[in-house]
This record gives sequence, C-alpha cells and structure tokens, in this order.
Amino acid sequence: MNETLDFARKNRLLNELSDDALLRLLENHSFLTLRQKAVLNEPGDAIECAYFPVTAVVSWLAEMRNGKRSEIMTFGCEGMAGIAAAFDGKQGAITAIVQHEGSAIVVPADHLKAVLAKDPDTAMVLYRYASSLMNIIAQNSACNRLHDLSERCAKWLLLMHDRVQTDELPIDQQLLADMLGARRQSISATTGLLQDAGLIKRRRSRTIITDRAGLEKASCECYPLIASEAVPYGAVGDAQLAVRSEAHAWFHAIHANNDGTGSRDGR
Ligand SMILES: [Zn+2]
Repeated sequence: MNETLDFARKNRLLNELSDDALLRLLENHSFLTLRQKAVLNEPGDAIECAYFPVTAVVSWLAEMRNGKRSEIMTFGCEGMAGIAAAFDGKQGAITAIVQHEGSAIVVPADHLKAVLAKDPDTAMVLYRYASSLMNIIAQNSACNRLHDLSERCAKWLLLMHDRVQTDELPIDQQLLADMLGARRQSISATTGLLQDAGLIKRRRSRTIITDRAGLEKASCECYPLIASEAVPYGAVGDAQLAVRSEAHAWFHAIHANNDGTGSRDGR
C-alpha cells in the first residue's frame, strides 16, 4: 500500500491529504494511462469519474457550434478533471482532452462525493483548488482578449513545459492553433518568429524548447501569475512560493504605477 500512497502523492492535490484521508479516497480507485487526444468528458456527459493526473496533462476546451474551439486552461499533476463532482455536479459543461499521454489516478464520482461528505479537510483541499481555478480562468480570459498571439503562444508552451519532463513537447501547429483559438497560418507565422529567435525548434509533430529563459521573456505577464496558481495548496516549496510572491508583487506594482502598460524585464 505504501507504493500506492507514494504514487498517489505525486499528484499535488492528493499530496495535500493525510494518509488516512488518502487511503479512504483510494478505497475505490484505478490507475490509468491516459492516451494523447483521449476525451475524458464532453459537454452534457455525465461526470462519472475524477481524474488526478500524475504524468498526464489535460486541457479544458470551450467548443463553439461551428466547431472552433479554444483552451480554457491546462493542468497536470497539480490538478484534477471532474472537479464538478465535488460540487455535486452531474454533467460536464466543457471538453476535457488529454494533451500529453501519461498516468492518472481515477476515482468514481460517487465515491469522491461520499468521501467529501464525511471528510471536511479533503473537501477544503478541493474547494481551494476550485478557487485557484477561477483565478487561472479569469487570467486566461483577460489574456485571450488583451495579449498578442506570440505572447500567448510562449505562455502556453511554458505552462506545458512545466508539466512534462522533457524539452521535446508533443505539440504540432494544429494543436497550438486549437489551444490558442487562432488560425493555423497565424500560428505558423508566430512559431516561425519564435524559432528564428532561437527559442524553439519546430518539428513535424513536435515542438522543442531550446531557450527556456528566452521564452519566459517572450511571454506575457500571465505566465508567472498562472504558474504560481498551480501551487496554492500549502505543501509547496520555498522556490515555488517565491515565484508566486514575486508574480503578485509585480502585478500590484503595475497597478500602483497605474499606467497599464508595464511589463516584465522592460518589455
Ligand atoms: Zn497573457
């Protein structure tokens, strides 16, 4: 059982739970490998399971009637899919799709709800996560309206880079276009500029991060703010807390200046 607990604790939400609470949750669970592009939930689907990624990365997408879609947010081992189950949600309202193949712990929604009803500490972990989700979604919403495609592209690549253990991301131009709600031609031009700047290399079905620091400078301010929200649950390292603190201090400094045009590193 220790191996199971150790594995489960690689998901940061589950790592917030006490051993007893985690054991209660894992009384009914399975391990799954989530394949890239697998759809975990679509609008109107019953929410049957909660997915706690360990190495998998999942995106939430909003899809329009004309088939166009755009990413709402992406998460890996810091999050979960099926959070609506914690609020007694019965049906999904958005699409959850696997961006990066990997492992996850799957808990039936009914079991999750039963555990939460008896365990307020576990419920509080998920409530804090839901609060963090609202911050991320709000930031992404403003980002999609206010920031350039190249900045958003750099931000998205950085957030994906944070969640996988490799510089070689399984991301092609079409996937980026879908995630950023942009035309394929626009993405091609944008990633071409990032490649010319030496920040990435494009391959047929891959994108390779070649200059992480440069990509951070090319991103909008949303990257550190969103990245810092990925670690809000208490058991985080000093370095992560420092990132969060710095991001928020910078954000408030911009408001203090009230010119609305400032950016990191003098950009
Ligand atoms: Zn932004």
